[in-house]
Amino acid sequence: TFSIGPRISNWDQQRRHWLKLHPEYPNYINGKPRILLLSGSPPNPCDNPIGDHYLLKSIKNKIDYCRLHGIEILYNMAHLDKELSGYWAKLPLIRRLMLSHPEIEWIWWMDSDALFTDMVFEIPVKKYEAYNMVIHGYPDLLFDKKSWIALNTGSVLFRNCQWTLDLLDAWAPMGPRGPIRDEAGRVLTAFLSGRPSFEADDQSALIYLLITQKDIWMNKVFVENSYYLHGFWTGLVDKYEEMVKKYHPGLGDERWPFVTHFVGCKPCGSYGDYPVEKCLKSMERAFNFADNQVLTLYGFRHRGLLSPNIKRTRNDTTTPLEYVNQFDIQRTLHVKL
Ligand code: UDP
Ligand code: MN
Repeated sequence: TFSIGPRISNWDQQRRHWLKLHPEYPNYINGKPRILLLSGSPPNPCDNPIGDHYLLKSIKNKIDYCRLHGIEILYNMAHLDKELSGYWAKLPLIRRLMLSHPEIEWIWWMDSDALFTDMVFEIPVKKYEAYNMVIHGYPDLLFDKKSWIALNTGSVLFRNCQWTLDLLDAWAPMGPRGPIRDEAGRVLTAFLSGRPSFEADDQSALIYLLITQKDIWMNKVFVENSYYLHGFWTGLVDKYEEMVKKYHPGLGDERWPFVTHFVGCKPCGSYGDYPVEKCLKSMERAFNFADNQVLTLYGFRHRGLLSPNIKRTRNDTTTPLEYVNQFDIQRTLHVKL
């Protein structure tokens, strides 16, 4: 049967030992866990060339967020396991990186079609101290409705620990492409509500696992919905101007969504659930909405949420440092702390 790698059963001890031997690579710095943001896209060019432009915008957006918040970032374009292709590719990658970076405490997977739209908000990582996975979703949709969209695997945090290795071992077996993935898809569609018939995907398989083995896993899973760790784009992208009028970055919830995720858009593929034009326009708006929050330090903003062009928001001065104190996101954060 399929296995994601040699079975490891004492990772917590191995890692603890390594950390002790390498104090120069601490997993906590100033009391904060070291976080690695992980994203990626297929090894080949997009079917639709404009898709590559949006992949570039998406990684630029992630680099900006990570730079501002002291998060490490890794972008992968290789298929580590040819059985676990497509959306399943994140599983072997998360495992590989956990084992190769014992100094990383949390691996944060983020889809290429998800953008940070609140550049100030920080995840309340202290709240997750007793947990090993943080995922956006709704417990009632999960356990009462068994909905296939109860959780979203587009933006998830995994702790680097034995528990996560065990989870990956239990999660991966529905993934191998071909007959196994096809048959698993039938099981998932029969079990979950609202799921169309198609091959097994990582999100449905995770939901299935957490429902059927609730006692094994759920005490270490934090189902987050107090802010948009993942936010479904259709309800958000048309409200950005209104948000600017009423609120400010740093809220992370429906008032100023932390992440806007373009579920069903497939800008890099050739088909999706929504019209391509609507998707691209909306992604452009999300990108510029976020980019404005970055540009404010430099005294610029986009002419509109659909415009790549920018304009000045203030005049140059001979005493520029007052603007650093006023507009730098990192400084604003330190002042708050
Ligand atoms: N992905 C990848 N390599 C691939 C296919 C997908 O790294 O060959 C990543 C990519 O970041 C994508 C995520 O896996 O956003 C989820 O895949 P899915 O097919 O669901 O694409 P989405 O609709 O999220 O773009
Ligand atoms: Mn996605």
